[in-house]
Amino acid sequence: MPLFARFQSRLYASFIGILFLCAYVLGVALLAFQKALVWLDGQHPHLAFARQTLARWLSLHPKTISMTLGSVLLAGGGGAFAIANFGPDISAQPVVTVTVPVEIAKLEEQAQMLDQINMSLRRTDSTRSSDTPESLLRRLGMVDPEAANYLRKNPIAKQALKQSGRSVVAEADEQQRLLKLHVRWLNSESDTLFQRLVVKRTPQGLQASLETSPMNAAIRMTGGTVASSLYDAADEARLPDAIIGQLTQIFSSQIDFHRTLRKGARFSVVYEVLEADGEPVRTGRVLTAEFNNHNKSYQAVWHQEPGQKGDYYSLDGKSLSRAYLASPVAFSRKTSGFSMRMHPVLQTMKAHLGVDYAAPTGTPALSIGDGVVDFAGVQGGYGNMVIVRHGGNHSTVYAHLSRIHVQKGQTVQKGQAIGAVGSTGMSTGPHLHFEFRVNGTHVDPEKIIQQAQSTPLSPAGMARFKSTSASARAQLQAAALMREGAAQ
Ligand SMILES: [Zn+2]
Repeated sequence: MPLFARFQSRLYASFIGILFLCAYVLGVALLAFQKALVWLDGQHPHLAFARQTLARWLSLHPKTISMTLGSVLLAGGGGAFAIANFGPDISAQPVVTVTVPVEIAKLEEQAQMLDQINMSLRRTDSTRSSDTPESLLRRLGMVDPEAANYLRKNPIAKQALKQSGRSVVAEADEQQRLLKLHVRWLNSESDTLFQRLVVKRTPQGLQASLETSPMNAAIRMTGGTVASSLYDAADEARLPDAIIGQLTQIFSSQIDFHRTLRKGARFSVVYEVLEADGEPVRTGRVLTAEFNNHNKSYQAVWHQEPGQKGDYYSLDGKSLSRAYLASPVAFSRKTSGFSMRMHPVLQTMKAHLGVDYAAPTGTPALSIGDGVVDFAGVQGGYGNMVIVRHGGNHSTVYAHLSRIHVQKGQTVQKGQAIGAVGSTGMSTGPHLHFEFRVNGTHVDPEKIIQQAQSTPLSPAGMARFKSTSASARAQLQAAALMREGAAQ
């Protein structure tokens, strides 16, 4: 080999050696730097933030670092190959093997750092009758056989998860392991205290305890406008069914929701909610409500005289309870959307005097007032029929019943079920045929109901009522504002 070529390849070899050395030194320097940071952290914990930032950068970019080192080596190696290729004798080239310990920032440390960032996630659900601890945890997004086993074996947890419909709040860590679990429930519907199961992960493992806490009474206000049905409007206003039930009950002597509720009717309602840990557990009482229907406005406010049962009053202090209900069929989700197929039999009845309420077979037919059963049995086209005699020559007729619950001569009370809606007699679809008779002649029940007056409050009671109604007015105004705001 000529002297020049030998000199040239020696030169290249040392050049490559220097390149490898540089890469090695860079790697060692980076590692030393990281170690220095760890040491610094131990000496000066207050520098933790700066250290973490750097350490995070190092751990986030291990690829960048190793790629930098790698490309230096590759370029060096590739360059060496390209240059050496000019040389005549490849086998004569010195082989340099360099092992550079490219260490990715320690995994342990990364895990520790992630632990410092609180990554626990809160999830909520409720228990189901078909639940196993595994299925409940899975629904909460967790796979934790240890926790499932604990929930299955711990007697308090077992008891708490036995019933369906209980609210569950859980927190899990990054590995989808259970950190914390709360289950809340009421022992009885009238309880003012609620029960809370707490399962926590502690350094000693999972621990369960049972706690009892008082519920918080909160006041909610909402409102809606009836576009298609009252229940659709209630759903839109997120009004619980129990509250809509109370609302129709409160106005049951003023409004026949089946017949007179119009599109565009507006309502506002202020009601109590009992909360456990800030979450609603039970709806309480409607405190005040307003209904605007067909250009008529109805208000109600709950008022309780000392030592007496409370009642709903209009804002001018008149009790809303009347002698008669406005409708013999309770307004419900089930009956509100039910419509009757008008059949030829009814349409051809020459003098169809009465009001027809379409409702599913079996829906209770209610006596609209106190009275005595005058007739209970079958009568021609009316099918199964009940007639109730009230005071003042008033009587009410309930026909086409599928079942009769009363006997002639029996005393009945306002709102009592005297039978069930059906389609007996001259009827081809389930409905209640209802008549309000005065001296044996049918009259429009709405007119009678409007005439009925209620007993007013005493002067002392009226004075107390004034402050109740003043705050009710303010609350109704706020609820109406919210409704208008929501509508925009
Ligand atoms: Zn009829």
